[in-house]
Amino acid sequence: MHLVILGNGITGVTCALTVRRLQPEARITLVSSESAHHYSRTALMYVYMGHLRAQDIKPYEDWFWNENRLALVHATATALNTAENLLSLADGTTLAYDQLLLATGSESKLFDWPGQELAGVQGLYNLPDLEAMTRDTHGISRGVVVGGGLIGVELAEMLHTRGIEPVVLVRDARYWGAVLPPEEANLVDRQFQENHISVRYQTELREILGDAQGRVRAVVTTAGEEIACQWVGLATGVTPNLALASTSNVETDRGILVDEFLRTNVPNVFAAGDCAQHRQPGAGEVPIEQLWYTGRMQGETVAHTICGQATPYRRGIWFNSAKFFNLEYQTYGYAPAGPVPGLSSFYWEHPGSRAAVRVYFRSEAPHAVVGFNALGLRLRHAVCEQWIARRTPVATVMSQFGSANFDPEFFPQHEKAIVADYNRQFPGQPVALKQRKGLFSIKN
Ligand SMILES: Cc1cc2nc3c(=O)[nH]c(=O)nc-3n(C[C@H](O)[C@H](O)[C@H](O)COP(=O)(O)OP(=O)(O)OC[C@H]3O[C@@H](n4cnc5c(N)ncnc54)[C@H](O)[C@@H]3O)c2cc1C
Repeated sequence: MHLVILGNGITGVTCALTVRRLQPEARITLVSSESAHHYSRTALMYVYMGHLRAQDIKPYEDWFWNENRLALVHATATALNTAENLLSLADGTTLAYDQLLLATGSESKLFDWPGQELAGVQGLYNLPDLEAMTRDTHGISRGVVVGGGLIGVELAEMLHTRGIEPVVLVRDARYWGAVLPPEEANLVDRQFQENHISVRYQTELREILGDAQGRVRAVVTTAGEEIACQWVGLATGVTPNLALASTSNVETDRGILVDEFLRTNVPNVFAAGDCAQHRQPGAGEVPIEQLWYTGRMQGETVAHTICGQATPYRRGIWFNSAKFFNLEYQTYGYAPAGPVPGLSSFYWEHPGSRAAVRVYFRSEAPHAVVGFNALGLRLRHAVCEQWIARRTPVATVMSQFGSANFDPEFFPQHEKAIVADYNRQFPGQPVALKQRKGLFSIKN
């Protein structure tokens, strides 16, 4: 069996390593245009900020691939012929496959803004983007970041660490309004204020203005403001990379369409990770998942199917984490940004605005917990997942809240305050804080 994997991101590499384990004799080739070796995309910002070197974000040594008989092809695939099982490469050669995994990831989403072709205007997705940003922000004084999502805040922090003033344009009335409730968004906003980051809410990009050399010199916002700048970062989301799939009869919509086994409509052609769109996502799940851990899970799942152990993809309970400057953020389960009928939430915030927790639960007895947000303190993934999966009543969760403690130094000082606040907000069923338990000793 010759398995060709297009894309050496987390999805492609996880699939390759899993297939190597399941079928030690399989012939495996990884093709990627971006880099010869796999690297951690989520760590790009740390290279720019000087915390890590480019070689530090490669999780495997360069000899690893040869040692594990994983052939690497550093090239762009330009066409896919599924009738003959052939992948054409930009250098004119072809690669024959028995099975093919499309793990082509995403690309930055652009919206045809006037001036977006000017020098100094870009998104941040890959290594060439990082190089361009490093080059084009050298010695500048101000950059405008368009978009109030996770990559937007990363770009603001990146500029800030190099002494460049970021101005962030956010369409919503608050930061990440589609995901964070107002209280959490305010906490993040305070991080912006403390770091002297200017944020313009309810403001979008109208136009980018250039100078005589074709370089960006300013942006004009929908509020009519002209902001002088020497660089613009477009962080308005990503979209599945369909360039290769669209040269073939592989069905696409917004992403490459797959069934629950991550199979496309073409036999022996699979798709997984950021580029895949699930034809029938599970209840409450999104059809396109663009996260590191879901890429890893999909890569592992599809490897089993490729090796003849057909395995449906089950994401399980939602999880995400990020960092807003110094403020860590985690979310588990169902954690909507606004009120939802039948759902209540308890919110606690540290008086100094350094930490916050929100627990979502069903309004109807027995008030089963469905989700969590944590900012500035860390909750244990396994514990929260278990509470949600077992539909644990909120009163039980609050009385055992210490079981979710991740930070032995920091968290205990907040436990009492959190439970006291819960009792104040929900006086009907007062709970007492129990002795902290071991990680897996929670009883419902
Ligand atoms: C700056 C940044 C920060 C992020 N931070 C987080 C985070 O903190 N947490 C989180 O969960 N997620 C984060 N993400 C998202 C996460 O990185 C992605 O969901 C994940 O990397 C997708 O993995 P993938 O393997 O599916 O695709 P990718 O990593 O995009 O890999 C696809 C590869 O395929 C290659 N390719 C595509 N087409 C071709 C072709 N025709 N020929 C050859 N090669 C091709 C591409 O060049 C690319 O290298 C971040 C993303 C970015 C950009």
